[in-house]
Amino acid sequence: MGKVYLTGAGPGDAELLTRKAFRLIQEADVIIYDRLVNTDLLKDTKSGCECIYVGKENKHHILPQDEINHLLYTKALEYACVVRLKGGDAVVFGRGGEEALFLASRGIAFEFVPGVTSAIAVPEMANIPITHRGKAVSFRVVTGYEAPEKGYAQLDWQSFIQDETIIFLMGLHQLKTICTQLMAVGKSKDYPIAVISRGTLEDEKVVVSTLGKIYEQAKDLPTPALIVVGEVVTIREILMGGS
Ligand code: SAH
Repeated sequence: MGKVYLTGAGPGDAELLTRKAFRLIQEADVIIYDRLVNTDLLKDTKSGCECIYVGKENKHHILPQDEINHLLYTKALEYACVVRLKGGDAVVFGRGGEEALFLASRGIAFEFVPGVTSAIAVPEMANIPITHRGKAVSFRVVTGYEAPEKGYAQLDWQSFIQDETIIFLMGLHQLKTICTQLMAVGKSKDYPIAVISRGTLEDEKVVVSTLGKIYEQAKDLPTPALIVVGEVVTIREILMGGS
């Protein structure tokens, strides 16, 4: 019986991969990977390595989660080294925990291999540090995925504190709601916000704006995209030689 490595592939740029993940990709008998994984990483596999795409983003799951779980299980029975490769880090809105629980319940050995999460790296590479003295004392990573009828409204908008950076993953389609809700709980229409599309990749796009204006400017950006809200967004302009 083999072992399953629940491995983070980093945010996009193939160089933002840990050495451990790189080694496992080279040693893998099978790699089961998602849509957000940079497929350049699959060039380093050994000959005969089976690469299985189970791409998923938002609701367009190609394989439902229970089938992915089952696939991991059957591949672990078949192979020694199973690499489950996921965008960013496997446990940051990546369902890595669920896959680990499923494997553990069936007596399959597993190990988490941390990856560089887009939540931090994508803003950072766009010159937006997510904490910064005097601008952000904390940061919060939240999902914009849930539809209102499925509990999106559960997000406690009042709970966002001052001087906090908020990073929304899977939130582009909810951009309007996010801005409206934040203004409804007292943030000004001039409060800084950025949308970063395809961060860390060559065709990255960054739109820096305000809660009042960003929707029209950023709604059509390509995915994956994340949203950063907070005073830290203003640092980008300074770092890039602006005011
Ligand atoms: N486990 C992943 C996140 C999965 S949720 C991680 O740790 O990074 C998927 C969301 O992550 C996307 O909808 C988007 O909001 C964000 N994302 C992932 N890669 C991104 C990229 N290169 N640029 C911008 N956003 C990205």
